[in-house]
Amino acid sequence: MKRICAWCKKSMGVVTAKGVVEDAVTHGMCAACAKKLFAEIGGDTESFLNGLGVPVVVVDDRGIIRTANAEALNLLDWESSDLAGYRGGDILRCVNAKLPGGCGNSPNCSGCAVRRAVIETFESGKSSVKTPAMIDRKESGESQETEFVISTEKTAGVVLLRIDEMSQR
Ligand SMILES: [Zn+2]
Repeated sequence: MKRICAWCKKSMGVVTAKGVVEDAVTHGMCAACAKKLFAEIGGDTESFLNGLGVPVVVVDDRGIIRTANAEALNLLDWESSDLAGYRGGDILRCVNAKLPGGCGNSPNCSGCAVRRAVIETFESGKSSVKTPAMIDRKESGESQETEFVISTEKTAGVVLLRIDEMSQR
C-alpha cells in the first residue's frame, strides 16, 4: 500500500496495512510537515488540531500539556485556554493529580492506562488505538469513576492524545 502525506501529498513510501495504525490521530503526516507544525506550538497548530474535529491534547515527554484543541477544552470543561505547566491528569481532573507530586507521581499512577499509553507511544513511536482507561475524576464534590477511550500518536517530539470516548459510570 502506498502512503501519501495527508497534508502536503508527498509520498511517504510503501507500508503494509498494519502501518496505518502508526498515524492514529493525524491520519498520516510526513516528518517535514509534523516538524513544521509542532516545532513552535502556535496559531497553525491550533487550527490543525481544531480541524481534526475530535478532542486532542498535545503532551510532551514529561506528561506536561503543550496545547489542546477546542473540542478537548469543551469536553473536559476546561474554561481557560491557558494550559501552561499543567499535566494530563490536571485537565482530565484525575483525583491523583491533586495528590503530592501531582499527575504521574502518586502511588496510584503506575496503573494508569492513559499514562502508560503516552509513555509507550513516546518510547516506541507506535500509536495506540482506542485504549480503554479508567479515571477517577473530581470536578466538585464526590469523585466519579469515568471511562475513557483514548488513542495516541507520536509526532515531532510530542504525543497527540485523542479522547475517543468519555462516559461516567
Ligand atoms: Zn507532508
